[in-house]
Amino acid sequence: MELWICVTCGTQFAPSEEPPRECPICLDQRQYVGYEGQRWTTLAELRASGLRNVFKEHEPRLIGIGSEPAFAIGQRALLVQSTEGNLLWDCISFLDEETVERVQALGGLRAIAISHPHYYSSMVEWAERFSVPVYLHAADQRWVMRSSEHLVFWSGERLDLFGGLTLIRLGGHFPGGTVLYWPDGADGRGALLSGDIIQVVADRRWVSFMYSYPNLIPLPAFEVERIRAAIAPYRFERLYGAWFERVVLSEAHAAVMRSAERYVQALAGQLPA
Ligand SMILES: [Zn+2]
Ligand SMILES: [Zn+2]
Repeated sequence: MELWICVTCGTQFAPSEEPPRECPICLDQRQYVGYEGQRWTTLAELRASGLRNVFKEHEPRLIGIGSEPAFAIGQRALLVQSTEGNLLWDCISFLDEETVERVQALGGLRAIAISHPHYYSSMVEWAERFSVPVYLHAADQRWVMRSSEHLVFWSGERLDLFGGLTLIRLGGHFPGGTVLYWPDGADGRGALLSGDIIQVVADRRWVSFMYSYPNLIPLPAFEVERIRAAIAPYRFERLYGAWFERVVLSEAHAAVMRSAERYVQALAGQLPA
C-alpha cells in the first residue's frame, strides 16, 4: 500500500495500491488539474528527488516552513511558539527526518490547525509523527482525503486553543475557512495568520477575498462584508498570508477594512480612481 500525494495540490490520500483515479480537490473550481494531467508522487519519491524544507524566521517566535524547490501550490506552514506550547499553523506535504529534528529543536508541537483544504497536504503524516491533534473546521470535512483519529473537527465561529491563540471561522473561500489570531504577535500588537482566507496581494498594503484564486472567481459582496464585520473586533498590526513574501507588516487591521470596502465598491461598479 502507498500513500499517494497529488502533485498539483499536494494532498496526501488514504493508503491504496494504485494511485487514486482523480483528485477531488483539483477537480473543484477552486483549484485545477495540472497541465500534464493528474499526476501522483509519494513522500519517498520526494525525499529521493532532493526536495528539502527551509525554515525562515518571520519575527521572534514565528517561523515559516516551506519546501525548496517549491512543491504543489508552494504552501508554507507557520510555527507559532506560544507561551503554552507550539502550534503549527497550516501544513505542507513534505516531511523528512531533518524537518522533524528542526521542529523538535524549536520545542516540538502541541497541535496543528489548518485554514482550509488547500493546506490539508500531508497533515496526517505530521500529526502521527508528532502525536498531536489537527484542528479542522467541520464545515470542510468532506475534503479530507485521508482520515485519522488525530483529526479534531470543531464547529461554530471561534475556538480558543492555548497560549492566547484563537481560531476564527471566516468562511468565504471555503465554508470552514479559518484564520488564526495571535495577540502576542508583532511585539504584542497582534498578528493574524490568514492563509488565503484573507489573501495578501502584490501591493502588500492591501488584501483580497476570492472564491477561487487560480480561476479568479470572486466572492459576492455580502460575503466580503460579513468577513469584514467578523474580523473587525480583533486588534492586529500584522497579517501573514499564504506564502513567505505575502505579509502585511503594519496597520494590517486598517488594510483589511479598506480592502473589503474597495472590493465591495468595485463589485458595485465603482472602480478605484
Ligand atoms: Zn490535487
Ligand atoms: Zn485556497
